[in-house]
This record gives sequence, C-alpha cells and structure tokens, in this order.
Amino acid sequence: MQDLNVIDLIIAKREGQALDADQITALVVAFTSGKVPDYQMSAFLMAAFLRGMNEEETYAMTEAMWRSGITLDLSGIPGVKIGKHSTGGVGDKVSLILGPTVAACGVVVPKLSGRGLGFTGGTLDKLESIPGFRTRLTIDEFKRELTDIGLVMAGQTGDVAPADKALYALRDVTGTVDFIPFIASSIMSKKLAEGTDGLVLDVKCGTGAFMKDESGARSLAEMLVGIGEAFDKPTVAWMTDMNTPLGRAVGNWPEVVEAIEVLQGAVVPDLVEIVCTLGGEMLRLGGKAGTTDEGFDLAHEAIVSGRAFDKFVQVVEYQGGDVEIVRNPQRRESAAIAAEVHARMRGFVTSIDALAIGRTVMSMGAGRVRKEDDVDPLAGLVLTKKPGDRVQAGEPIARLYTRIDSHLESFSEAVSNAFEIGDEAPLPKSILLDRYSDGAWLGAQAAAELRSLQNLRPA
Ligand code: URA
Repeated sequence: MQDLNVIDLIIAKREGQALDADQITALVVAFTSGKVPDYQMSAFLMAAFLRGMNEEETYAMTEAMWRSGITLDLSGIPGVKIGKHSTGGVGDKVSLILGPTVAACGVVVPKLSGRGLGFTGGTLDKLESIPGFRTRLTIDEFKRELTDIGLVMAGQTGDVAPADKALYALRDVTGTVDFIPFIASSIMSKKLAEGTDGLVLDVKCGTGAFMKDESGARSLAEMLVGIGEAFDKPTVAWMTDMNTPLGRAVGNWPEVVEAIEVLQGAVVPDLVEIVCTLGGEMLRLGGKAGTTDEGFDLAHEAIVSGRAFDKFVQVVEYQGGDVEIVRNPQRRESAAIAAEVHARMRGFVTSIDALAIGRTVMSMGAGRVRKEDDVDPLAGLVLTKKPGDRVQAGEPIARLYTRIDSHLESFSEAVSNAFEIGDEAPLPKSILLDRYSDGAWLGAQAAAELRSLQNLRPA
C-alpha cells in the first residue's frame, strides 16, 4: 500500500477522529498481507478500542476482513440458504437441533462452526464427539452435501476471513477483544463469507455469555443486524437469556445426547422454545412460512414427526459419523468417573449460575483454555434439577462425568455452589428476551408472547 501512512491513521484514531472506509480497508489489507507490523496494528486496535469506531468504519472493517478470503458461491444449489449464528453460551446445543429441523422443512442450511474456547462450548467440538464425524470438508464436499441433503455442519477453513483470524490473534493478546465493533465485524465477516441469503442470530446475554449485561447485548445485536442489512442480507437477532445453562446437559457428548433426545421428541422447554423460535425465523426468511409464528409450528412439527431426527441421522451418515451410536447413545462408553451432586437443603432451585457451570465443565476436561488444547468429548454434566424445580435435602441435582478423578470433590463443590436454593419457587420466565430487526426492537413483553411453550401441542 504505497499511499498508506499507518502512523497518521494511528494518530487520527488516537485523537478520536473517524477514518473513512478506504483508510480502514487499506489498513486491514496491508496488515493481512504482512505490510503492517503487529506493533502498529496493536496500537491502532487499542486506539480504536479507547476512542470508538462508527458504523462506516465498522462496516468497512467487516467487508475488508470478509473479502480477505473466499465467499462460498452457493448459487448453483437449489433452494433458499439461511445461516444461523450464536454468540455462544453454556449448554448451547441449539445448532445441532435447529439445522436438521429447518433443513427438514426445506430451507437449505450451510453451517460453518467454530471450536469452543474458555467457558463456552463450540458446535464443532460437539459434532466431533460423535465417533467418526468429519468436520473438515472441502468446498466441493460441502456443496455436494448441501445439494444432496440440504444441510451441512462443518468447520471453518483457513480460507474464510483470514484477516479476522490474524486480527483476533492480536486482539487476544492486546486486551482488545471485548469491543463491540470488533466483535460484530469479526462475527459478520465469517457469516458473510458463508454466502447465505439471510441470517438468524442468537445474541446471548447473562453470566454464561460473552455479553454479561443487557445493554451490551442490545448494542451487539443492533450492530450485527446493521452490518447484515448493510450488505443486503436480511438479518434478525434474538437476544436470549444465558444466566442459566441452556437445557440440562453441558459438555460435548452430553450435549449431543440431549440434542438427540430433543430430536426424538423430549420436551426440554427452554431448548425447544429457542429452537422453534429461531427455526420459525429461518423458515420465514427461507420463504417456507409467512410469519415467525407459522414457522414456529412448522419447526415444531418437524421435530414431533421425527423428520428432524431423520435429517440429523442423514447428516451424521453423510459425514462419516457412527449412526448406530446416534440412534442408541446409551450404548456409548461412559467417562471414567460419574458422580452425583446432592442438594444441601430442601426448597426450590431459584437459579443456576451458567458461568460457574461453564467454568467447572471446562476444568473437568470438556473445554480448552488455549486454542491448541484437546478436549475430552465425554466430559460434562447433566443438571437433574433446573430453576423452579422442588428439591429435598440430599436429592441429586446434577450428574458429573470426568476423567480427572483427583479433582472430583472440588468439581462437585463448584457445581453445588452454582445452585441457589430458596423457600419460594421463582417466577417462570421466558428465555426469549427480545427480538431486533429492521432497526427496531420488538419489546420484551411482545417477544415473550410471540410464541411460548403453552401454545405447543403436546409432543
Ligand atoms: N466471536 C467471534 O467470532 N469474534 C469475536 O471477536 C468474538 C466472538
């Protein structure tokens, strides 16, 4: 980049000035091609972190990162393609259920996922806990599977938004990760590369999420949707509660088992509600439903009828996974140690701290502290009690699975401490906090009423 004066850009940002789109693009391009050293890019990142970035800068950064790699050309594949992304949480196995559900209704779902890091899990690790399941696919394999069965669940290759990868690595070591314009541009650069026709986002909010508070989650949702729309991609975001682990299982294989159970008709209320709502949005965007409510019913029907499970089995088979184990998950070897955690007192479970559970499950071997760490696919836990449930003193509240037997006592204690038990049952609340699209929030009350499990037919 001949005309690029990086020092001027750093100084301008340091002084709180807005850069124009060309300057941001030139900087990202030069950094990605090795012409801007890490120390200068680090200075720029910190200046932007402290001084802020406006929409134009954020959109330019997104586009530069997106265009640094490939964009999948899915135009030859029949059907509308709709993507989904979650900002990540504890027990978040939604994609495993949602992809097959939506694909079973005729909308094409090309799902590129990442690995878990820290206390949040990653869809890729969950899929790889299925023996034999292959997540590394070539682009040709990816497209063939989409054409044949309308669904693929694979890992991102290095060709997708390589600039994001390089920038994220720098953000990670310079204290500049948790800045909404960087997070939003990072996520959307990869989603835009998927080449879908529309996008549904699950922006999680609470102790077990990236965004701990509601105002941060709202800002992130607004920016993500704004970026999608700026690039002509119809985008909807749901803000969902992540103060409590989602569903009952946390850990890779335990979550796959729970996903299978839901696909076979088990009603895990928070999970079914979120799957059918996001599914409803995907089916509406994909032209299979006139409204989100109508889509909700279609998604639910796909689960209840077993068509979603059949689609899941089809994907597992296509990607080399062990279909027999997926049909009969109880046949799988169990982790070396299984232990029960018991309630310390009687009463009602009033809350379960998602962050504490996520951290404990990570220590039990299910997650990674550094990117290169291995995970134990079988490690994790199942919550046998959830908020609102009555418990007796000494009754089991969770079952743990780990190979790290030397720390079993501390794991049990941490899980026990994550539970709050009180005299009164908490008021039931929806996991769906609010919905954002077309520049407006729906409102918490309307979002909770848009669909609720009370309206579901019995499974
Ligand atoms: N997820 C991403 O992909 N990027 C971020 O910066 C944060 C979360």
